[in-house]
Amino acid sequence: MATQPSVSDHVTERCVTCGGKTTHGVRVEIRTESQKEENAEFSREPYRITTCNECGVETATRMNNA
Ligand SMILES: [Zn+2]
Repeated sequence: MATQPSVSDHVTERCVTCGGKTTHGVRVEIRTESQKEENAEFSREPYRITTCNECGVETATRMNNA
């Protein structure tokens, strides 16, 4: 079972821009994918957004892509 990340959490993850592990702020955001008409019933997807505290790059990972 994956644990639910809480908003404003902080984790240490690898940042592709920094090239190493850095501290990231984490939040969950619901993003609308309105351009995908054939997938309308799944048009609102929860994303896990991590923001690197070193370089500020945001990485969005869809949470329910199983
Ligand atoms: Zn970074």
